[in-house]
Amino acid sequence: MLPKAMQDAMNEQIKNELYSAYLYLSMAAHYESKNLSGFANWLRVQAQEELGHAMRFYNFILERGGTVTLKAIDQPPSSWDSNLEAFQQVLAHEQKVTKNIHDLYALAVQEKDYPSQVMLQWFVDEQVEEEKSATEIIEKLKLIGDHGGALLMLDHELGQRKPEEEEEEE
Ligand code: MG
Repeated sequence: MLPKAMQDAMNEQIKNELYSAYLYLSMAAHYESKNLSGFANWLRVQAQEELGHAMRFYNFILERGGTVTLKAIDQPPSSWDSNLEAFQQVLAHEQKVTKNIHDLYALAVQEKDYPSQVMLQWFVDEQVEEEKSATEIIEKLKLIGDHGGALLMLDHELGQRKPEEEEEEE
């Protein structure tokens, strides 16, 4: 049985992951309107992954005999002044999610909830990747500065990102 404190914290995390999806979908729409379809593609794929993250928690709570309670999702911003600002927000957001995941892990340790610790290990690794990929884009945007040609090359690169095959959970 999933400890009650763990269930409540995971329900909160479903909301956090869905907010991530909301934020990235909002950013994707912003980039579509700026005709930077590669940036928009990268963000759409990212949003899709966030939905997958929410579903991992959703399924896990149900598998452990817990109750899923969906919370209200905040409205995300809808415009950004610069590309750098947008991706700095992506990184700041992922750093916040990393802290959420670490807090969940600490709770699972405190509750001696070993299945949750194993499940959360995947997210600990995932957050290392999320911060790394956001940082790489920020570094490239800093190099690009006002160079429009280089921006289009990055847009092309980000347009290559394909949706990841989510592992089938049994
Ligand atoms: Mg996530």
